Amino acid sequence: MKVRPRILLLLLGVIFMTICVDLGKAGDNVPPKLERPGVVLTFDDTFITQWLAAQPIFAKYNAHVTFFVTTFDKLDATQLAGLQELKIAGHAIGCHGLRHLKAVDTMRQSSAKEYLSIEIEPALALMHAAGIEPTCFAYPSSQRNVETDTALAQYFRHLRAGTGVAPDQTLPRTEAIFTPVNDVLTRLCLIGAGIDYAGPQADQDKPLEYIFAALDRAAQRNEVIVFYAHNISDEVRGNHISPAVLEKILAHAVTAGLAFYTYDDLP
Ligand SMILES: [Zn+2]
Repeated sequence: MKVRPRILLLLLGVIFMTICVDLGKAGDNVPPKLERPGVVLTFDDTFITQWLAAQPIFAKYNAHVTFFVTTFDKLDATQLAGLQELKIAGHAIGCHGLRHLKAVDTMRQSSAKEYLSIEIEPALALMHAAGIEPTCFAYPSSQRNVETDTALAQYFRHLRAGTGVAPDQTLPRTEAIFTPVNDVLTRLCLIGAGIDYAGPQADQDKPLEYIFAALDRAAQRNEVIVFYAHNISDEVRGNHISPAVLEKILAHAVTAGLAFYTYDDLP
């Protein structure tokens, strides 16, 4: 009779240890090394209704993308439900700051600690409460430096900023937006090219032919390429990409043989 409580305690101990080991694995759930070249499509801010409306286009090409959400405290119930739908559909939800503050300016005006406590930690707390565990952060206005990267690396596996295309360069020659597949693991911040206003006309800011050529380059050289946009709509004046143009990009990525990676897929 005296042995039984000991056995019970031992069993409880084993169960507790097993739970702890499992929780530990979930906490550092880093995906495996990438096997194929791919495209990482990202969309910023709070255009959740429009992103959800584009879901049939993503589904048609089995494309999964990353949505970087800002002002999480101001989202209404419909937007929060929309994010859950996007998550269930296999897309990643990343952090884009609580107040869309420019990281370098804010850190210079206060400190890294202050920036993290007003812009990052409250955003993460709200996202966690909504059942979202962001692995990634997109810099508002692409403002970053070594100090901001270092501070944010404690919270996120990868970061995203953006670059313009130099006047004497085309998109396929903009080296910053390409990462060799085997270098993704060690590159904290991946740089994207903006594809808002992309279109078929050669006189537009982002001719589709250059986007297609950039996708082809990534496929040929075993690289990952990153793009970013905002709203997905034909009806607005602000930063947006037309659904028809987005579909052309998805179709070309498939033809080129690229995988669609979300930020959560990146090791
Ligand atoms: Zn933004």
